[in-house]
Amino acid sequence: MPPRYYATVACPACGTRFQAPVEQILDVRVNPEVKNRMLSGAINVAVCPACGTGGALNIPFIYHDPEKEKALLFLPFGVGNGEVERQKLAGQLTRQLMDSIPQEERKGYLFQPETFLTMENIVKRVLELEGVTDEDMERSQKQRQFLDTFLSALEEEWPALIAENEALLDENFFGLLQYTMQVVAMAGADSGDFSKVEKAYTYLVDNTAIGQLLTKRTEVIRQFADDPTQTTLLEALIAAPDEETVEALVQSGLSLMDYAFFQQLVYRIEAAEDPQEKAQLTHLRRQILEIRDAIMEASEDVARSRAQLLEKLLTTDDPLKMARSYLSELDDTFALVLRSELTAARNRGDKQSVEALQRIATVLNQVTEENMPPEIVLARRLLMASSEEQMHALLKSNQKMLQPPFFQFLENIEATSREQGETQTADQLAHIRALARQYAPQPEEAPKPSPATPQPPTPPPAPPEDKTRTASGLIIAKR
Ligand SMILES: [Zn+2]
Repeated sequence: MPPRYYATVACPACGTRFQAPVEQILDVRVNPEVKNRMLSGAINVAVCPACGTGGALNIPFIYHDPEKEKALLFLPFGVGNGEVERQKLAGQLTRQLMDSIPQEERKGYLFQPETFLTMENIVKRVLELEGVTDEDMERSQKQRQFLDTFLSALEEEWPALIAENEALLDENFFGLLQYTMQVVAMAGADSGDFSKVEKAYTYLVDNTAIGQLLTKRTEVIRQFADDPTQTTLLEALIAAPDEETVEALVQSGLSLMDYAFFQQLVYRIEAAEDPQEKAQLTHLRRQILEIRDAIMEASEDVARSRAQLLEKLLTTDDPLKMARSYLSELDDTFALVLRSELTAARNRGDKQSVEALQRIATVLNQVTEENMPPEIVLARRLLMASSEEQMHALLKSNQKMLQPPFFQFLENIEATSREQGETQTADQLAHIRALARQYAPQPEEAPKPSPATPQPPTPPPAPPEDKTRTASGLIIAKR
C-alpha cells in the first residue's frame, strides 16, 4: 500500500485534537482526479470531527504532472524555522517524489520544482498549465458572482437578473450550479438552503435557452440509455439537439453502429421527402461517421500507449515501482493488451515471454489490490480461487472481515451480475456467500429469530443516486 501520512491537528475553534490524512505527493498520472482537487484548492483540508470547523492545513506538498514535465512545490509561509529548515523540507519532498519514480524515468525538472508560497499562486500555475486563460478565469469568476447574487435575490427579481446576465449562462454555469446543489445537499443539516437552491435550479432550467437545451439533451440520452437498440439509437441521434449530444450518443452506442445501423440511416435519408430534412439527415450521417472515426482513433492511441507501457514494465528493474507510478494507465485497455500478448506468446510457444508477461500480470494484480478496499480484494480473490479448498482457506484466514457489510457487498454484485446476464458469475457469488456464512463469526448475543416470524426479505441494494434529495442532474458535456 502506498504510504499514508497523518498530521495531528488542533481545531482552532474548539481545541479538539484529531488526526487528518495528509497528501505530500500529488501525481496526476497516479491519480488524475488530483488535478481537479488542485484546481479547486481542496488539498490537505481537514474538518474537525467535534465541531465541524474546516479549513486548509497549509502543509507542504509536491504536485507532479509527468506528461507536462512539471513539478510544483507548495511551501507555504510560516512552514519551517528559517531558510535552512525550509530548504531541508523542500529537499525531503523532492526526494520523496523522486523515489516514487523508476530510475530510468527520472528527469532534470524533478530536481528543481517551481516553488510557490501561497495556494492561490500554485492553483493559478496549474490553471495556466491546463491552458485556462485569464479571460476564462474572469468569466467563471463572474459566473460565480452571478450565482451568488441569484441565490440571494428575491424570486420576483429572477427574470430581470436572467435577462441582464444572459451572456453568462452557459454549460459551465450549469455545471457550477449543479456542483453547488451537490455541496448544499451533502452539507445536509439545513434543508431550507437545499430547497432554495433546488428552486433556483429548476427556475433556471425552465427559463433559459441553455437550460432547455440541457434538459432536451438529458431526455434524449436517457431515452436511449433506458432501451439501447439500433432503432432507439437512431431515433435519439435524429432528436439530438446539438453536436455534444450526438457525440455522447455515438460514444455510448458505438457497439451498435454496424452496417445494418447505417443502412437504416440511409433508408431514412432516401425516404425523406422534405429536402431540408434530407439535408439534415445527410449532415447527421457525416457527423456520426466523423465522431466515430475520432473515437476509434483515440482508442487506438490509447492501445498504443498501453503497449508502450507494457514494454517499459518488461524492461525495467523495478516493475512494481513503474506500475505504481503509472497507476491510472493500468486500465481495461492495458489488461487487454497484456492478455493478448500472453496469448500470442503461448501460441508461438515462447516460454520466456510467457513467464515475463506473467510476472507483469502478478504486478498488475498486486497494484490493483493495493488500491481497493479490503472487502473487494477478498471478494475478488474468492472469485479467482481455483479450487474449493482455496476458497475455504481464504475464508478461514479472513474471518474477521466476514461482517454484514461484506455480505451486503456480495449480494449487491451478485444482483448486478444477474441483471447483466452474467449468470455464471452470479451463481458463483451465491455459492461464495453461502460458504462465507459458515465462517462468519457468530455474534455473541444475537437475538434468536423466533421460527414463527418469517425473516423480512433483504432490501434491494440502494439506487445509485437518491433522487428525492438531489434533483436529477442534467448532462453537461465534458470539455
Ligand atoms: Zn472543533
